[in-house]
Amino acid sequence: MREIEAAVVRGSEEHTIEQLQLDDPEPGEVLVDIRATGVCHTDFHAYTSDDTDFPIVLGHEGAGIVEAVGEDVSTVEPGDSVVLWVLPSCGECQYCRSGRPYLCQRRRDVRGRMMDGTHRLHRGNESINHFYAQSSFATMSVVPERQVVPIESDVPHEIAALLGCGVTTGIGSVLNIAEVESGSTVAVFGCGGVGAGTILAASAVSAGTIVAVDLDTETLDTMEDIGATHTVDASSNDPVERVRELTSGVDYAFECIGNPATIRQAVDTLGPGGTTVITGTSASKSIELDLGAFTKGISVIGNIVGFTQPQIDIPRYISMYKNGDLPLEEILSNSFRLDELDDAFAALGEGGDIKNVIEFEPGP
Ligand SMILES: [Zn+2]
Ligand SMILES: [Zn+2]
Repeated sequence: MREIEAAVVRGSEEHTIEQLQLDDPEPGEVLVDIRATGVCHTDFHAYTSDDTDFPIVLGHEGAGIVEAVGEDVSTVEPGDSVVLWVLPSCGECQYCRSGRPYLCQRRRDVRGRMMDGTHRLHRGNESINHFYAQSSFATMSVVPERQVVPIESDVPHEIAALLGCGVTTGIGSVLNIAEVESGSTVAVFGCGGVGAGTILAASAVSAGTIVAVDLDTETLDTMEDIGATHTVDASSNDPVERVRELTSGVDYAFECIGNPATIRQAVDTLGPGGTTVITGTSASKSIELDLGAFTKGISVIGNIVGFTQPQIDIPRYISMYKNGDLPLEEILSNSFRLDELDDAFAALGEGGDIKNVIEFEPGP
């Protein structure tokens, strides 16, 4: 057992930095000294929701150094540099066995706990809930081995942390889901972490035209720096009209915010045979589509974490970063300390910040 420091959320928008006890890793689990962790809208949503399982330690985009491993762990050892992946998966169901761990249904049953239904986080007799079996807003985490991906030690942890969730969701939407070809035309609606990952990957595969659509001009400037060939400020333009003027209908439209009106716009910008990939939708929302679009052979695909197989894809994206094909450093906006979590959450709503991280001092 270790004493750790963590940001414990005890009610909607109430957190304190507390000393907690973290159990040793169980078989198949890894203890990680967290060095950096991304701050994501998913954390903020849980922080501000009344529906979260309090008390909880949030954080699900961690990177750090392996401190210890439980029994039966074979892919990492103490001292390894690692990225922590967001989604737990069982490794045994039909989806996990067919290379689609993002569809694993078992993780839905383990809300607030590790995959075996128990807790590693405690404060005295009180159990503290886990977030995505990771809870990386803490100096150390215990994480299932299936979510721990070894990387080269020379990759800065603040860069590695960008690959734990949203940015990889964007990269995977281009490389794994749409399989965008060189020379094709692409529109990206909403340029936060997912949208930025989408533009980085579209640029990496040499898409011919990449149109970034957002409401914030500072964000659009950054998108030009990372590969957008055109930008559309949707606060002062009709994005469908502008994208159609620029491209006469795109091959791929990526909707990266899960907003019904924007999803409709993305579909409406497609040319014949075009594909829309939508991210971040929820069951309570719906859209109306003109079915005539389907007579032109369009597709609409739901994006779950970029169809990522973390052990295969994250090392691939790290290599692309090292080759200069994915300049992830361009989308790292600001770094905070754990005791500045409020500021880090406030920055999520500000224009211009693409990805922010919390960084930790190396442990003793
Ligand atoms: Zn996330
Ligand atoms: Zn599974």
